Parts: sequence; C-alpha cells; structure tokens
Amino acid sequence: MQNPFETEERKAFRETVARFVAAEIKPHVDEWDEAGDVPWEIHEKAGALGYFGFGVEEQYGGLGFDDAFMRAAATEEMSKCGAGGVVAALGGRLISIGVIQLLGSDEIKARSLPDIVSGRKGSSLGVTEPSGGSDVANLQTRATRDGNHFLLNGSKTFITGGVKSDFYVIAARTGGEGLSGISLFFVDKDTPGFSVTPIDHKMGWWCSDTATLYFDDARVPAENMMGEEDRGFIAVMNNFNLERVALIAQALGMSKVCLEESIRWAQERQTFGKRLIEHQVIRHKIADMSARIDAVEAYLNQICWLVNEAEMPTAEISKAKFFATKSLEFCASEAMQILGGAGYLRGNPVERMYREVKVVAIGGGSEEIMRDLAVRQMGL
Ligand SMILES: Cc1cc2nc3c(=O)[nH]c(=O)nc-3n(C[C@H](O)[C@H](O)[C@H](O)COP(=O)(O)OP(=O)(O)OC[C@H]3O[C@@H](n4cnc5c(N)ncnc54)[C@H](O)[C@@H]3O)c2cc1C
Repeated sequence: MQNPFETEERKAFRETVARFVAAEIKPHVDEWDEAGDVPWEIHEKAGALGYFGFGVEEQYGGLGFDDAFMRAAATEEMSKCGAGGVVAALGGRLISIGVIQLLGSDEIKARSLPDIVSGRKGSSLGVTEPSGGSDVANLQTRATRDGNHFLLNGSKTFITGGVKSDFYVIAARTGGEGLSGISLFFVDKDTPGFSVTPIDHKMGWWCSDTATLYFDDARVPAENMMGEEDRGFIAVMNNFNLERVALIAQALGMSKVCLEESIRWAQERQTFGKRLIEHQVIRHKIADMSARIDAVEAYLNQICWLVNEAEMPTAEISKAKFFATKSLEFCASEAMQILGGAGYLRGNPVERMYREVKVVAIGGGSEEIMRDLAVRQMGL
C-alpha cells in the first residue's frame, strides 16, 4: 500500500535493509533457528547499516537523527526474513539503547553506546520479574543504598539477549510501593553479585537468547543510576511505547510473510481440478488477510507520523498493538489452512510464524494490558 509519508531517504533505507535481509539473513534462518543462534557478525553487519543508530548522537556512533518511519521499516523488513528469533536477537538491544541515550551519564554513553550501536556488543532491558511482567508498578527487585553504591537484590526473567549482553538497563525499587518508587540502573555484565542463566525450550524465537538474571547483593556504582531516583516508571512506560511501535512493525512484516506464502502456494497447488487460488473460499481468505494488513500498515504510518511530530500517541499505540497481533494471529491461522499439511512442517515460514504469534501478542505489553491501557487513555 502506498505510504503518503514516503520520502526518497526512507525508501532507500528500507531497500537497503530489504537487500541485506534477502542476501545475508533469509537463506540461513532455518539453520540458525535450529542451532539456536545468530552469528555475531550479523549483529555487526546490521550495525554498519545503521540499524541500531536511530536517536543516538553521532559522537556515540549513532545516526544523529531519529525517524519513526525508518525504524518501523527496518523492523518490518527484518521480520520478512521469516524468523522472529533473528529480529529479537538483533533488535533486543534496541529497547535499552533509547534509555541509555536519554538517561545515561556521558561516561556510561561513551563506554557503552559505540559498542552497542555498532553491533560489537549487546545490551538488554530487564523489567519483567518471575512474579510478573504486566504489573510493572509492583516490581520487587530492590536497590538499597550502600555508600557510593547500590546493592541490587532480586531477579528478572524473560530477558531478551540476556545471556550474551554486556550491558543491562535494570528497573529496581528504590522507594516505597507502587509506581513512584522505581529507578533505573546501568549494570555491567561483570558486576559482582550479578549472574545469568539461559531459558531454553521456548515455543518460538529459537535463535534469540532469553535469560533469567539474578542479583545477589549486586554492587552497582551510585552514578550508574539513570535518571532521577524513584522516577523510573515514566521512563519505562515511554520506552514501552517505542518498543510497541516496533512490535506492530514486526507483526506487520510477519503478516506479509503469511500472505505472500499463501498466495505462492495457492497459485501452485491444485485441488479438485483447479488451482487453489481459483476456489472462492481461498480467494476470500486472501482478501481478508490483505485487508487486515492494509489496516495495520495505515495505522502504523499514522502512528509514526505522530511520533515524529514529538507526540506520544499512547492510546493509538496500545490499540494498534493488539490490533496488529490479532491480525497476525488471523493471517498465520489462515495461511496455515491454505498451506494444509505443508504448512505444518518445520522449515516452512508459516509453521514458524504460527508458533511466533504469541510472543508478539504477549511481549512488551499483552493484548489484555493494551486494551486496558487504551480504555484508560479514553478517560474511562
Ligand atoms: C520471548 C520473550 C522475550 C521477552 N523479552 C523481555 C525483555 O527483554 N525484557 C523484559 O523486561 N521482559 C521481556 N519479556 C516479558 C514480557 O514483556 C512479559 O511476558 C509480558 O509483559 C507479560 O508478563 P508475564 O508473562 O509475567 O504475564 P503476567 O503479567 O503474569 O500476566 C499473565 C496473563 O494475565 C493477563 N493479565 C495480567 N493482568 C491482567 C489484568 N489486570 N486484566 C486482564 N488480564 C491480565 C496478561 O495479559 C497475561 O495474558 C519477554 C517475554 C518473552 C516471552
């Protein structure tokens, strides 16, 4: 669908990412997913394209500008590789980069961002805890002042990139109960008292590492607190908004894979003496998928325009996120029906998309939480 906000620069960037995905990623995703890993050189190649540089100052290796359309296009094109694990493995660092750029000290930015943005090193954001992820205001990991340090105690789980990252942004409680007692900390991998274990056997995102992080009197320098003490909740919520825009773009890219695979198969496969594409029921499925994809794309474009206008359309982002993941669920299910048994086999992109619907529908704010937030934004 034509984007009324398209520019030459945006088009060129999208095409650059699309070429990179087609040449260097798509041919290998089955192998990487089965192996549970994306070669690190791919992180560095993505970094060289500017994939991680939006909103980061040039002195720290960033692009020196931001553009919501380019960010969304990059994620959508990456998602077209057909393996969400690749998108997560590479893009996991994106949800911490913005916090570091916005709230990190000059010293922290100088020693971490050039390595993260170039893809040489990874970074992770730790908000979710074993006791729950939706109720962020109730998080339990505690940071207690001890001279020039804070001692962190508690744990984080489901942390994308957590095994391989060198740097972590961690939300911890410094004050009383509720949303006004949370602060953010920059934590180095070799911090005494900090350890990591991998989470294996995920339903999808096999080539992306996911970790549980443990803090046992982890000694973090006081200057590693990012932003104001007890004011971290707002920063986490603002950061979630940008993560959700990326997840909408991911759902869009995945939905397009489902549609393209369906059309390809329906044009080849013969049943009852004619091609599947000639059966009206199948034609209607394709029309329904295409209409939902158009709606998500138009919604995403409008949201990107608002983000660029320095507005944070929280209500629209919340609604678009659950709308996009519900659309993806529909597209993955219909694609599976169109492919029949062939779609059920490992190595088929539709089989993987079907397994990876739920992580996009739950991660970064579940469909239930998004609906709740949307209605609250309506003042109800
Ligand atoms: C592969 C993967 C990668 C992830 N990466 C990260 C990461 O990098 N960093 C990070 O911090 N987190 C990460 N997460 C965590 C993710 O953000 C959480 O899973 C998500 O926020 C939901 O939290 P939860 O799983 O604890 O579910 P819970 O909060 O326990 O909720 C369980 C279910 O109940 C529903 N629910 C909860 N409250 C309500 C309510 N009030 N009304 C109605 N329904 C409700 C939820 O929608 C959900 O369906 C990741 C998760 C996965 C699976």
